[in-house]
Amino acid sequence: MATESDQEIATLSGAQLQRALLARLRFEQALGLESVRPVMSPPRVKLEEPRVPPSLPTTSPATPLSPIISPATSVATVATPITTAARWRDIEARVKTCAQCALHKGRNNVVFGAGNREAHLVFVGEAPGYDEDLQGLPFVGKAGQLLNRIVAAMGLNREDVYICNIVKCRPPENRAPLPDEIAACNPCFVEQIELIKPKVIVALGNSAAKTLLKTTQGITSLRGHWFNYRGIPVMPTYHPAFLLYQYIETNRKAVWDDMKQVMEKLK
Ligand code: SF4
Repeated sequence: MATESDQEIATLSGAQLQRALLARLRFEQALGLESVRPVMSPPRVKLEEPRVPPSLPTTSPATPLSPIISPATSVATVATPITTAARWRDIEARVKTCAQCALHKGRNNVVFGAGNREAHLVFVGEAPGYDEDLQGLPFVGKAGQLLNRIVAAMGLNREDVYICNIVKCRPPENRAPLPDEIAACNPCFVEQIELIKPKVIVALGNSAAKTLLKTTQGITSLRGHWFNYRGIPVMPTYHPAFLLYQYIETNRKAVWDDMKQVMEKLK
């Protein structure tokens, strides 16, 4: 059905019609509606009215206008999916000002996550510590240095993997995050994983493993076994901070055995 705009345009002369269409084109382009451009190609809008017999359909004002001005057509034509980059920007912006749980009160920085956003392997820790909170980056303290060594031993660089925590702000005194803090931060973590789509997740320590696997079992019984998070294989292992604290051969070997399974899975 013709709109008021259709009817108005239908009464215009060729030159007026061209101006009206160009004005609409500029307006829609200003809104980012780039896909109207091909419809405006010259053959469909004749500049010199006298040269074109009125009986030809291409010169009828209604004919070229209908695909352009129909609201339904415009919306259907210009709808474009939100890009992955835009989604990353959106999450990051939201998290940086997030106050969804009490942890925002004591933070210096939100520790969003870092690394390759197309990584096949994601390491998920518990929460930022002192150094991470100061720098706004995950795993940059001593535990982070140990994680770097583990990653290197796997034949990877830190830039090859993505590293984040289940909670983005530092809990006071480095305590474990509380269930309500984990729940408040979970949507951000879920979005990160949805965007990265890794082939394997390594859950570092109790909090990460229990959160991802929705279990009350401890890391000692979980580690070394494969689990599943949203269709992605998960290998729980000891947190590097625990490994530093209990730097004994049994624990080091356990982590290395777990990482060998991860490397095998990534092949
Ligand atoms: Fe928001 Fe997560 Fe920080 Fe809580 S821990 S304030 S939910 S970003």
